[in-house]
Amino acid sequence: MTTQDFQRAEERQQVSQEQSQSQADKAVNKGVFEIAILGRVIWNLHSLNNEGTIGNATEPRTVVLWDGTKTDGVSGEMMKHIHAFWTWLQAKNATGIPLCTACQRFQPQRADAARVGLPSEDNALAVKEVLSRCALCDLHGFLVQDPPINRQSTVEFGWIVGVRDSVHREFHIHARHAVAERGAARAAKEVAAQMVYSTSEGQKGRQKKEVAAQMVYHRPTRSGVYALVTLYQPWRIGLNEVDYTYVLDDSQRQLRHGLILTAYEWTFKRPDGAMITTRLPHIEGFEGVVLVSRQPVPVPLLSPLRDDYLERLQALAQKQGIEAHRFGDLVKLIDILQPLAKAQPLRLFQS
Ligand SMILES: [Zn+2]
Repeated sequence: MTTQDFQRAEERQQVSQEQSQSQADKAVNKGVFEIAILGRVIWNLHSLNNEGTIGNATEPRTVVLWDGTKTDGVSGEMMKHIHAFWTWLQAKNATGIPLCTACQRFQPQRADAARVGLPSEDNALAVKEVLSRCALCDLHGFLVQDPPINRQSTVEFGWIVGVRDSVHREFHIHARHAVAERGAARAAKEVAAQMVYSTSEGQKGRQKKEVAAQMVYHRPTRSGVYALVTLYQPWRIGLNEVDYTYVLDDSQRQLRHGLILTAYEWTFKRPDGAMITTRLPHIEGFEGVVLVSRQPVPVPLLSPLRDDYLERLQALAQKQGIEAHRFGDLVKLIDILQPLAKAQPLRLFQS
């Protein structure tokens, strides 16, 4: 072997070592840029979200799709509120995760109700202060009037919307009886709802007997298959979007990221909302896909309203180098989310 051959062999070895080192670094530094969860849930006999009450009738929430189809819906605000609550519950009971004075008490105004000590002349500094002192303000966003600063949530929910031809609604009549009207001695004035009868609208016979002594009202109950869309952006945790610097170190960002993933688990296991005291949903199933982007590439968001959404999303994900993890039930979903909770949120740049 000549000296030149030897040098070339050495160079090749060096290049090969550098390549394998770079691959090893990538494997260790498998940060997470974005996560989307898209799927179909089956909820029975719930009344989680309503338009409001008109007279004695509660109107269920109705939404209209592009083709004019009217269907059932549960608002994204409701889901986000539930997710925020589960995030807060963990933060409140953990050590080393700060909450501002407003979020200590889960006040909906967040940073706007904890303005004391915020610099008023420097918005970048004010945002830095809010992100440093509160995980919930960082993760779920805030809007402060003075100084005028805001932050968009790292978690976003779309409407949970009934899949075409897969939603059913029923109205039930309820009768509330006052004690006095039922022959008891005391006046009913101070005594509110005492007894509730529930009967379907078909059973009018029973209602007749009670009509003089009752206040009748109509309540909806719904069952259906619903399309669910949610997006989460771990790369923005601790990112001050006034001057684009990261305010937190990696360990703090990782802790906050873990809260979000666990809050997702709890939100899907335990959806919350209106009328759950008497209409706690019967959760029958949840299937879908978790998309994970490890590079700064946005995940695709094709709606599960489409019957072929799983196949199309998998094809899209494959073309963009995005991981697609399918699940057929809640247990499988949790199996996907738990390892992701240990991952590191991607840091786009050092600051
Ligand atoms: Zn806060």
